[in-house]
Amino acid sequence: MIIGILALQGDVREHAAALETAGAIARPVRRPSELVGLDGLVIPGGESTTIDKLSRAFELREPLVAALRSGLPAYGSCAGMIMLADRLVDAPDDQQTFGGLDITVRRNAFGRQTDSFEADLDTPWLAEPAFRAVFIRAPEVVASGPEVEVLATVPRPDGSEHVVAVRQGSLLATSFHPEVGGDPRVHARFVALVRAGG
Ligand code: GLN
Repeated sequence: MIIGILALQGDVREHAAALETAGAIARPVRRPSELVGLDGLVIPGGESTTIDKLSRAFELREPLVAALRSGLPAYGSCAGMIMLADRLVDAPDDQQTFGGLDITVRRNAFGRQTDSFEADLDTPWLAEPAFRAVFIRAPEVVASGPEVEVLATVPRPDGSEHVVAVRQGSLLATSFHPEVGGDPRVHARFVALVRAGG
């Protein structure tokens, strides 16, 4: 199984290591031709406005959107989650995403004091033990359509929950960065999803 990693920005090497631990072959994607022959695609974190601009500059945007529309499985982490969202709030009016996930995402949802933090995710999706998740200026999912499954949340001070991991068919997104910290369970779930065909 060959999984591409959008290599415009972000932790490409760390994602590759986690994917290989999970049993896939990882390949960086910078050119449209490198989208050919992939079984799935990882969109790393970084800065979503920059990924948006670079994807146009590299002429990747159109073929990537077309590949997602035709069912290419994809996993987006942090800015990658933003890029897979159909709708954004608290983002510049002209900011575009690739889309595919029927979710509304708020950028930088965790405020200044907690620009970066770690949380233990206790979710049946990742089984035990709790997954130590690293959040860096992270987004959250504020609304989602009926086909979207919520996989993980973290509590807010008021007792409600931030949605931080979702799946719809063979599209997966997390607010956090599982490539740091060396726990390959999220990548393994994505590889399993690709293998199962969504
Ligand atoms: N805050 C960034 C954005 O809006 C995402 C941060 C990240 O990917 N670590 O794109």
